[in-house]
Amino acid sequence: MDFLTLFGIYVVVVLTCIALVCKYSGQQHTPLSRVYNKLSEVVSPWIPQCFQNICYRSMHRLFHQRNRFFIYLHIVLETVVYGEFSYEIFGFCLEMDTTLFNACLPYVFLAIKSYIFYLCCSKDPGTLTKENHAVQLKVYQYDEKLYQKGINCQTCQFLKPARSKHCSVCDRCVQRFDHHCIWVNNCIGAQNTRFFMLYLLSVCAMACDIALLTVDMLFHTVVRSGIMHANYIDAEGLRQPVGPLFVVQHLFITFPRIVFMLGFVVFVFFLVAGYTMFHCYLALVNQTSNEWFKRKGHGCQYCSPVSGRQCHTSHNPLRGFYHRGVLKNIGEIIWPSCPTQKKDN
Ligand SMILES: [Zn+2]
Ligand SMILES: [Zn+2]
Repeated sequence: MDFLTLFGIYVVVVLTCIALVCKYSGQQHTPLSRVYNKLSEVVSPWIPQCFQNICYRSMHRLFHQRNRFFIYLHIVLETVVYGEFSYEIFGFCLEMDTTLFNACLPYVFLAIKSYIFYLCCSKDPGTLTKENHAVQLKVYQYDEKLYQKGINCQTCQFLKPARSKHCSVCDRCVQRFDHHCIWVNNCIGAQNTRFFMLYLLSVCAMACDIALLTVDMLFHTVVRSGIMHANYIDAEGLRQPVGPLFVVQHLFITFPRIVFMLGFVVFVFFLVAGYTMFHCYLALVNQTSNEWFKRKGHGCQYCSPVSGRQCHTSHNPLRGFYHRGVLKNIGEIIWPSCPTQKKDN
């Protein structure tokens, strides 16, 4: 199973790279960043200083400055997947009993996703300005844990409204800050969280649809070839009936591009679906990613960890301070308060 081993390695490498990108871009002090720092300490004496400087500058520019690299990467990956789908699978789908509507559905998802992606990239996430600052101070109450009264943003010189945060990449304070997303080259805040969630859902739908059509095409190919009823001669010269692993290897050899594309699309689907579920959970309990990561170290938001008192059992640590009921929480994502409009709490 040489091809399967290679494919497994390919998936692990891609998974590791994406996990590193997600971790490295979002959080400063994570186990992964500590491992990265340790590795750098060990490896750096062996690498020329000028090369280290180039690497450092490139990484800094990539993850800590606004740039369109990941948007272009996005477009390249999409072009490769859709090019392969159009070239090898779409025609085959039409030859089979797939309806024209079903065969064209991935293009419909692509159009929807591209529009939502554009909104995610271009819409203001809720930048705090002199004009809206006074109103933003009244939108949320301070929980006196993560958000305390009377703290200034050192860069913008604004009194920080509750739930806002200064994004060092965009150099601005953002209302109901969630995170800075390198994939859309924009902050995710009060005004564009709804587009970000729709974007995640549309990517899931796109990947799932292409994967299903590809699996359908490969399945029909296997059935038509009758390979499941064939035999093969193994390394010891014995006749063996063809099993599922043999069929997978056969597909790898016969349709390498399609199988690699399928593996990539399935991988993207599970990765994005997991991330989407995490964001759906945050939306239901009215928390941001920023609050979720910070609250992990704070325990219950109602009981002080330094007081030594036991947490009251009625406090649900999964719910955020800003939880107002599931429907109101969802409403807050779909219809965020305008930058100059006060929300009733
Ligand atoms: Zn600021
Ligand atoms: Zn940002």
